[in-house]
Amino acid sequence: MQSASTGIETSAKHRTSVSAGPDRPAELSPVYRGRFAPSPTGPLHAGSLLAAVGSFLDARVNGGEWLVRMEDLDPPREQPGAAADILRTLELYGLTWDGPVLYQSARTNAYEQIVGDLLSKGLAFRCRCSRSEISAANEAAGRSSGNYPGTCRRLVVPASEEHAVRLRVSDTPVAFTDHAQGPQASVLSDSAGDFVIRRRDGLAAYQLAVVVDDGFQGITDVVRGTDLLDSTPRQLYLQGLLDLPHPRYRHLPVIVTAAGDKLSKQTGATALPRDNPSAMLHKILGLLRHPPPRDLASASPEDLLRWAVTQWDPGRLSGMQHIADPEASELPSG
Ligand code: GLU
Repeated sequence: MQSASTGIETSAKHRTSVSAGPDRPAELSPVYRGRFAPSPTGPLHAGSLLAAVGSFLDARVNGGEWLVRMEDLDPPREQPGAAADILRTLELYGLTWDGPVLYQSARTNAYEQIVGDLLSKGLAFRCRCSRSEISAANEAAGRSSGNYPGTCRRLVVPASEEHAVRLRVSDTPVAFTDHAQGPQASVLSDSAGDFVIRRRDGLAAYQLAVVVDDGFQGITDVVRGTDLLDSTPRQLYLQGLLDLPHPRYRHLPVIVTAAGDKLSKQTGATALPRDNPSAMLHKILGLLRHPPPRDLASASPEDLLRWAVTQWDPGRLSGMQHIADPEASELPSG
């Protein structure tokens, strides 16, 4: 088990190049620092392994560091033992990380402080709307249901009332170039709307924690699945408000089942096999358009990854949003 001090030790290590003040993030250094950030909601599966391998190879080919951050922010969705199981699986697959693992559960004070600052500057506001109130307001106005209708934007909701905290977004487009998917642009007020940074249950929201910790750990390069491409404009916007450097982003295709759904626990993904990691790595490298040669048929995971580092050309995946895997699990029907 990790304690709060683990988070602090990690921060101290990576604070060697910090520019100012407590909990100021490291400045982006010219070196490459990547990360894999699993949520311990279950064991790793082929889809999460593909993201891990892609970000690992990209870091190593650039002579960079590769960190692991456990996004254990949401106890109700977590599975006991999953975090330790994920780390054991990464080791078994030869995916060795640099430095200590950062546990987001040890970072709640940092998130709280930042939410408090955003509230006091008027950049965020308390919102008491329930999900059904949001849907009803959107329906009445004929708007898409995912967007926040702005109900509490101009209200002062007392802190004593149950509330979420939302970030005020602007209607200025957020544009960036994704290193795999090309130019992207989004107007947050039309897409996400004012989004939640602290949930009604008091937990920090993913969008806030990921930005705070990418900054805190000095991450220069985020390599992850295209399922998170539409979160990126929110994260860039928040980085701007918090005066954090913007990492480079590369969104790799995600594995989809024969039915076209992203492979996940919900679509029936099974835990990675423990008995023959090399066979699964062969398959993942093939899906990443880097099929290992025949003479590596019996290579260890470490040797396969060493070979893959010498070959890694993420350009082979440019513009690909999905990888169809006919063998990907499907939920049993009925
Ligand atoms: N924890 C997220 C997930 O497991 C990934 C977050 C990220 O890479 O930004 O989907």
